[in-house]
Amino acid sequence: MKNILERYDLVVGLEIHVQLNTESKLFASDKNSFGDVPNTNVSPITLAHPGTLPKPNRSVISHAIKMGLACNCDIASYTTFDRKNYFYPDLPKGYQTTQDQYPICRGGYLDVKSGNDKKRIKFNRIHIEEDAGKSSHDPEHEGTLLDYNRAGTPLIEMVTEPEISSAEEAGNLLTEIRKIVRYINVGDGNMEQGSLRCDANISLKPVGSKQLGKRVEIKNMNSIRNVQRAINHEIERQSALLDDGKTVLQETRGFNDETGETTGQRSKEEANDYRYFPCPDLLPIAISKDWIDQIQSTLPKLPHKVLADLQENYQLNLYDAEIIADSKELSDYFYTTSKITSHYKRVANWIIGPIKSYLNESNSSIENFEIKPTLLAEIIDLVVQDKLSFSIASTRLLPALIKDPKQSALDVAQKLQLLQSDNQNELIKIIEEVIANMPEKAEAYKNGKKGLLGMFMGEVMKRSGGKANPKTANKLIAEILEK
Ligand code: ADP
Ligand code: MG
Repeated sequence: MKNILERYDLVVGLEIHVQLNTESKLFASDKNSFGDVPNTNVSPITLAHPGTLPKPNRSVISHAIKMGLACNCDIASYTTFDRKNYFYPDLPKGYQTTQDQYPICRGGYLDVKSGNDKKRIKFNRIHIEEDAGKSSHDPEHEGTLLDYNRAGTPLIEMVTEPEISSAEEAGNLLTEIRKIVRYINVGDGNMEQGSLRCDANISLKPVGSKQLGKRVEIKNMNSIRNVQRAINHEIERQSALLDDGKTVLQETRGFNDETGETTGQRSKEEANDYRYFPCPDLLPIAISKDWIDQIQSTLPKLPHKVLADLQENYQLNLYDAEIIADSKELSDYFYTTSKITSHYKRVANWIIGPIKSYLNESNSSIENFEIKPTLLAEIIDLVVQDKLSFSIASTRLLPALIKDPKQSALDVAQKLQLLQSDNQNELIKIIEEVIANMPEKAEAYKNGKKGLLGMFMGEVMKRSGGKANPKTANKLIAEILEK
């Protein structure tokens, strides 16, 4: 592979479809919802009965503007809908309403990780369009079942410039887009369920050549990993053709999940002529600066800003910051807790360690986590004050508080006798017993084998049930041994 990329430049452009999470559809008041009983959200508009007219959904437009702003796009002040004509059983109108001439957003970019550097990937445009229904093949009756619930639900399509140059960059761009979609809450970004879908346009050209090579388009991949596998497979396939002096056929190909290979579906010559034209049923839409400003004011701090903020202002390392910035809910939880306690690194450790494992095990999420930030801050304070160790706090106090989160951390720790005893007399008694049981070791220590201190420490901690304060214990053992 490395060898191939010394001879050819890889050029990839992505077309990414994002399902929007509005209440209703793009041009009808039917519910926009996944997994309902088939054909229940199907008004005459969705089914394209004669005489029905579309009515644009304001929330779809504001969601699209929001995504455009988050991706640094220019928002159009004038936008229109067009018809893209093709026939398909799950497209009842015989055309798809989309945007061709005057899309809602133009330009824009995202910065993504590429090796150890950042790379800016530009967008050509973002436009709004409606989704089709869903066909499923019914082996029992050898027919096709049609579910029109999804017909007319809103999508945005994001089209990048052809300037992605590795599978890694493509994956990082998709990851960033998915994160933003979730942060700004315009969709759920779930690739497995098809709410985020990606077509990849892939070509090779001789290294350094200005002219782009012939591209193939790989349709509808349902995971980031598959997009990357398809790109890598095309690098092998196209370079073999070019090495043999052959040309790459410009065509649409499908990706086979099992073999990891792509196969030809239709060539450009057989491609549809969509005969785009302005939709006569929908008036152009004017978008005011006020509206854009108002939407701008609802944008939260975006993932890349959160990532930088966590490193610069909360002293987290990149690894920790990336985990916490991964979702808005997780970073919100971090920020709220860090308003109450300034032990930021500890807050991060708690979230990344015991909290995330508990949430994973219980299949829960941070929004529903029983321990609210104030209570976590209390637990952290107890550990900071050496009242109990991190390990006792995470393995015993945390589970107890999860069961009873109304109690204070201190009360529960006391009730369960988890507090490290600072009671010196008790501790001294334990130490004296330990030393009395090992007279030779104590003698050896006095004669200079200072390394034995750790062994005494271990014994004392064991006898105290882990509750002795390690610092105090250490000091007392040394004092008593020296006597
Ligand atoms: P179409 O309308 O035929 O799909 P577009 O110009 O809209 O063509 O491009 C679709 C996608 O293909 C864009 O993401 C673009 O960046 C990408 N693309 C265009 N030319 C190439 C090429 N030679 N190699 C790789 N990607 C390309
Ligand atoms: Mg295309």
